[in-house]
Amino acid sequence: MRILITGGAGFIGSNLARAALVEPAVKEVTVLDDLSVGLRDNLTRLDVEVVEGSILDPAALDAAMAGREAVVHLAALPSVPRSLRDPVASHHANATGTLLVLEAARRHDVAHLLVASSSSVYGMNPTLPKTELTWTRPMSPYAASKLATEAYALAHQASFGLPTLALRFFNVYGPGQRHDHAYAAVIPRFVHAALRGEPALVHGDGTQSRDFTYVGTVCAVILDALRRRVHHPHPVNLAFGARASLLEVLDDLAGLLGRRVDREHAPPRPGDVAHSLADTATLQALFPGISPVDRRDGLRATVEWMARRLAVEPVASR
Ligand code: NAD
Repeated sequence: MRILITGGAGFIGSNLARAALVEPAVKEVTVLDDLSVGLRDNLTRLDVEVVEGSILDPAALDAAMAGREAVVHLAALPSVPRSLRDPVASHHANATGTLLVLEAARRHDVAHLLVASSSSVYGMNPTLPKTELTWTRPMSPYAASKLATEAYALAHQASFGLPTLALRFFNVYGPGQRHDHAYAAVIPRFVHAALRGEPALVHGDGTQSRDFTYVGTVCAVILDALRRRVHHPHPVNLAFGARASLLEVLDDLAGLLGRRVDREHAPPRPGDVAHSLADTATLQALFPGISPVDRRDGLRATVEWMARRLAVEPVASR
């Protein structure tokens, strides 16, 4: 199968490209990325075709999608704070961009499409765990744009019969995730601070919790979906019901590094939800063969990757 990964120069996309190259069912990998956040370096030494362009440009989409059987649509402007600063940009990339990807998929008779939605769509819904059929109430423009992403994708499936899987990712982390831009996610920021011996910046009191999911597990689910052309009429949570608070993550890091990790607190950020935990029944029914990488193992791999980048010796003797 020949696949296109939009946003393939980003964190999840480049991990997926690497994993897809050793997947027997995948014959060719193309990436479409405008390199606004993703890095070409993430794809060096990988045998992938890179089309530099925007999903907002139908001509770039046509160039990248012609002849592809499957599309994994990851390109987006992620991040809640970014969307608070520029809601229109988030809407263009995430909502309009998805619609343009779907229309290109129709033009090119793509046989299977996966899109990345987000646990942030649950927003104000306080119920834990989050089941896919409970109500959504986005608390940020980013979350609203991700609700549009999944809604357009599933509406296209219903309207035009394009087999589609809309996965709600829950706080993905792992090697390749940037700590060094204004909208970096919490785990790479924590790991970077811990390795540098600097205090980790915690928004709020740190008791807020997330269903952290290792990027290798996310890639395993996507590849299994591609292999078996898994599609579903409803969004599907991609997480395994293993919630941890930010304070627990810092404790894990201290344990891995064998030293204390200090922290500094800042006010909670608007748009952030307090707790997040996935109901996993649908995921497990669709992907019975996949078990998640344990959080401590995932954190260890993340610490080792970032330490190599920073060229410091991180992990205390095991
Ligand atoms: P990322 O920012 O590392 O990757 C996104 C990629 O999309 C980047 O390489 C960026 O350059 C590219 N991009 C942005 N706008 C584009 C455009 N107009 N045209 C082409 N490319 C464009 O983010 P990620 O963490 O790898 O996230 C991948 C997907 O997963 C996103 O859709 C995100 O919303 C979703 N998601 C991620 C998480 C997470 O925890 N990382 C959680 C929920 C959902």
